[in-house]
Amino acid sequence: MALANSYYQNLSGSYLFSEIARRVNAFVADNPDKKVIRLGIGDVTSPLPPSVIAALRKAVDEQATAGGFRGYGPEQGYDFLRAAIVRDCFAGLGIGPDEVFVSDGAKCDLGNFQELFDAGCRVAITDPVYPVYADSNVMAGRGKARKDGKFEGMIYLPCTAENGFVPALPPERPDLVYLCYPNNPTGTVLTREQLKTWVDYARANNSVILYDAAYEAFISTPGIPRSIYEIPGAHEVAVEFRSYSKTAGFTGLRCGYVVVPTALKVQGAGAELLLRELWLRRQTTKYNGCPYIVQRGAEAVHSPAGKAETGAIIAKYMANARLIRTGFASVGLEVYGGVDAPYLWLRLPRGLGSWDFFDKLLTGANIVGTPGAGFGPSGEGYFRLTGFNTPENTLEAVERLKGFKI
Ligand SMILES: *Cc1c(COP(=O)(O)O)cnc(C)c1O
Repeated sequence: MALANSYYQNLSGSYLFSEIARRVNAFVADNPDKKVIRLGIGDVTSPLPPSVIAALRKAVDEQATAGGFRGYGPEQGYDFLRAAIVRDCFAGLGIGPDEVFVSDGAKCDLGNFQELFDAGCRVAITDPVYPVYADSNVMAGRGKARKDGKFEGMIYLPCTAENGFVPALPPERPDLVYLCYPNNPTGTVLTREQLKTWVDYARANNSVILYDAAYEAFISTPGIPRSIYEIPGAHEVAVEFRSYSKTAGFTGLRCGYVVVPTALKVQGAGAELLLRELWLRRQTTKYNGCPYIVQRGAEAVHSPAGKAETGAIIAKYMANARLIRTGFASVGLEVYGGVDAPYLWLRLPRGLGSWDFFDKLLTGANIVGTPGAGFGPSGEGYFRLTGFNTPENTLEAVERLKGFKI
């Protein structure tokens, strides 16, 4: 038999969503008359905005004509989209179209990007965390699951109410640091000063920051950085990942991009290399590009009409988030997030486990959320909810809290 990649056995079993489904299905089977409302979903619910649909239709029709048909496109994305991204999202930030690489989504980019680094590189992740950062590195040999829920070999940066969900600088030097702001799952953000601390640290220590800005469009607080390139010097140390998924409802359509500045250098054997060149080589070798039709849809997101439409959808999700915030605060819980991100992070009373609260909320109010323990050891004692359900369901869920005792 061929030998399997043994690093896959270093992963921990991912039981979070299957365990949630198991508990919800059992409850529904026993209580067929109860309407369960899911406030735990990490997927959007609004349909694609009209200007995106119009652009998709037009691009489809072009494919039926000899002049408009497109075969293989540029692996790094069409110029029209790269130019629109630079104009709309990075104006004045010193990013050029040749530093933007279009893809079929941020999850793939985040999972693939670690390939560009040596197997011995040390990785730092926040705790709680979006699991893709850790798991993709474990698959490449940079960590091994332990009984305590952490990966041996990785550097953990706890983010809890005690430190205001702001990770402290690591106790030992990492080569790679994954940061996600606005954060999934905590819904919290970093101020410019706090982000600058990390950029300065990376510059002083030759670390690379892999910055996940998938929720940048949800920021409403003035002054909160939307891109890490708003911080001077970030171009030399940071890669930024973005996605149309939550911003514009592309979770099924699939489009995202990564910014790899030309100024970012890494050490090769005997020579410094441009990280951008390595990513270009990786993408041209292993990827054949996001579909033309989808890229035309993404381009429409950057049009004035597209921006107005996506802005209205985001405002609706954030109104849901505000309702949830108020509702759960009224039953006496500390609620974080939900202001610059569609995620809310409930702090549970001392001693109440996140799976115990899951069961209480399901049986007591027929509401489904996500136990914080599923995002890392520091997530225990917390619970994630999202603003992605419909306004009607969100309102109904919050109404039910009036009779809910923790
Ligand atoms: C949803 C999400 C993404 C985006 O993933 P896509 O593959 O673009 O759909 C990236 N990072 C985080 C933290 C997310 O929650």
